[in-house]
Amino acid sequence: MNLLDLNYEQLKEVVVKKGLPAYRADQIMDMLLCYKDWSEVSNLPKNTSSLFSDYCILPLEIINEFKGGNGVVKFLYKLQDNHLIEGVYLPNNYGNTICVSTQVGCKMRCAFCASGKDGFMRNLTSGEILAQVLLVNKIMGGTSKNRAISNVVLMGSGEPLDNYDHVVSFLKNISAKRGLNLSLRNITISTCGLVKQINKLAKEGLNVTLTISLHSTDDEKRKKLMPIASANKIIDIIAAADNYYKSTGRRVSYEYALTEENSDNSSVEKLIELLNDKNAHVNLIRLNEIEGQEVRGVSERRSIEILDRLNNFGISATLRRSLGSEVEGACGQLKNHFAKK
Ligand code: SAH
Repeated sequence: MNLLDLNYEQLKEVVVKKGLPAYRADQIMDMLLCYKDWSEVSNLPKNTSSLFSDYCILPLEIINEFKGGNGVVKFLYKLQDNHLIEGVYLPNNYGNTICVSTQVGCKMRCAFCASGKDGFMRNLTSGEILAQVLLVNKIMGGTSKNRAISNVVLMGSGEPLDNYDHVVSFLKNISAKRGLNLSLRNITISTCGLVKQINKLAKEGLNVTLTISLHSTDDEKRKKLMPIASANKIIDIIAAADNYYKSTGRRVSYEYALTEENSDNSSVEKLIELLNDKNAHVNLIRLNEIEGQEVRGVSERRSIEILDRLNNFGISATLRRSLGSEVEGACGQLKNHFAKK
């Protein structure tokens, strides 16, 4: 059992059950949010740690880090059961972003993505997802009140909506007043387009930013890139995204990794047709190379041509800068290592 899986109310219940006064929950919560061990805090009675010996408080540790350009750092974390996951810290001019993993491995097996190549191991708990943010916040000099992290993207390994309950608990806990109090607007969930779960998320009352990995404008071609497309048609995904926008007021983004297959003029015109009347944003992504990859990307020149075509038509679009590729920390390059390193 992991104390970071609990919200404040649940933590208070545990604290009271252990025979401690309720106010100790605030001190323990602060310790947890600072990702500190019992021995690192001085405001709790000495025997507190033994009272909680049945609980884990630090579910992951950093066992390696790789520094890239522009301050990007990729972290290799070890979980309690020795599984390894990765995450990336990306400083930018509006704040600092951390990219977190939601699963060990991934079931989706997208052709261009490294995360699912070794299969799926298990879901991460909400506390394990939160711990990635807290630990990096700590080592970057942040505290529970003075955060060094301003944005979180759920774009590491795993499909967030395939680990729905833990991801929703994570979102609630990280944004709670008595949690890290991070605005949900600063958190982005990226999904391969699980229609049912997008519609469910729309009803949660969490105004988290949603981005959809579209990557194709044709269902048959999409199936070749993303096997999950067999169960989720593009038209239904876009309808679910519209529904999400209506329910939350949050503009949805579409990720479109530029491949030889999807970057021809007719695909681009189809993309325009699909998103024409939507309040949507398109994030064009230069395909990052992964080991054994069969999918080929397009030139920078072609990428810019596509960007211009979308913008000239009046569709909000950007070409994502690829940070972290030199440390294999860019999109799709985070793969699961099981005690490999
Ligand atoms: N499972 C989620 C999160 C995945 S990673 C999802 O599918 O959205 C975040 C983004 O990186 C997704 O849009 C994903 O499709 C994209 N991506 C994966 N591999 C990539 C690669 N090799 N190059 C560029 N983008 C990639």
